[in-house]
Amino acid sequence: MGAGILYHLALEGWTDIVLIEKGELTSGSTWHAAGQCPHFNSSLNMTRVHVYGTELYPKLEALTGHAVSWHGCGGIRLACNDEEVNWCKQVYGLSKLAGYEAHIIGPDEIRNLHPFLEVGNIKVGFLTITDGHVAPADVTIAMAMGARNLGAEVLRRTRVVDVKLLPSGEWRVSTNEGNIVCEHVVNAAGSYCNVVGTWTGHKVPIANILHHYVITEPVKELIEREQELPVIRDPWSHAYLREEVSGILVGPYETKTAHVCWDGNPPAWDFESELVAPELDRLGPFLERAAERFPLFGQAGLKSVISGAITHTPDGIYLSGPAPGPRNYWMHCGASVGI
Ligand SMILES: Cc1cc2nc3c(=O)[nH]c(=O)nc-3n(C[C@H](O)[C@H](O)[C@H](O)COP(=O)(O)OP(=O)(O)OC[C@H]3O[C@@H](n4cnc5c(N)ncnc54)[C@H](O)[C@@H]3O)c2cc1C
Repeated sequence: MGAGILYHLALEGWTDIVLIEKGELTSGSTWHAAGQCPHFNSSLNMTRVHVYGTELYPKLEALTGHAVSWHGCGGIRLACNDEEVNWCKQVYGLSKLAGYEAHIIGPDEIRNLHPFLEVGNIKVGFLTITDGHVAPADVTIAMAMGARNLGAEVLRRTRVVDVKLLPSGEWRVSTNEGNIVCEHVVNAAGSYCNVVGTWTGHKVPIANILHHYVITEPVKELIEREQELPVIRDPWSHAYLREEVSGILVGPYETKTAHVCWDGNPPAWDFESELVAPELDRLGPFLERAAERFPLFGQAGLKSVISGAITHTPDGIYLSGPAPGPRNYWMHCGASVGI
């Protein structure tokens, strides 16, 4: 989120700007994101963000010189009951307003696009051919490089320790390497955004929720396929299911069992590129359903488990824009789908 702001401000001609990162870029949540970029969303503004992202990423390498591994494999959100079908219809209307291509398709067409899926309880699927996934770390590096090429600055291994409003109306950002006085401050501190907010009296409403995904060993049927499968979003197993280097990646969103990380405390300041300890027992029921939906997943051996914090706001939409109170303090945080 910080690299995105830096890049886009630089594109707008703001080059006297600096991104401050306490570790290495992406070392918070971004390095281990699954990188999916779906369009399906009930908020028109969020949909526009998604449309913009999926248009930007395929050309980001040409714009910045850094490859980002964009996979434009498309995506299908499944609907298994009437309520979900109605939701698809509502989002289909939004797709027309936001200007992306979507189709509501039946089980046979879903099987044509994804021959390994069990479609017995599926009523329809919401197909978005411009969905895809991308390497989150490379996107971040690309945007930071693009911004630097335009004159912006990136300070790594520099920790912000305080932010204070000066009588002049400017902000003093104190770091372990010295102070910076500036006109505008953007809080893009990810899992720490609520701590950083307290320094200026802002209560930032986020919770760091633990999320896992698992990746299997490569699967013969996927090695032999030429075309990548679309990303599946399945409300029945509460999971996304996709191909990852000929293996299968499954990420369940826990429902009633979802937990906050670190007992609700902020991460330690030296937490960097680490996984949060996985809590796999709770994932069992979701993974079992994922295996029923995509039987090849049930037959493959697990290769890795990724588990980390995702910032969530109460309404699931990230905070972006001017914060209440003194002028020129901005939020750009609380993203649950920050890629
Ligand atoms: C397992 C998993 C899978 C996910 N899959 C997806 C997905 O498929 N698609 C998707 O869109 N999203 C996904 N997400 C969510 C995504 O990772 C986040 O929404 C996104 O990375 C948030 O970006 P951010 O910049 O807000 O936070 P971060 O990446 O955490 O960046 C914040 C940065 O601020 C730095 N920082 C904080 N405080 C200070 C300070 N005081 N001084 C200096 N630096 C500081 C941190 O070091 C950190 O690098 C996933 C997340 C997880 C954990």
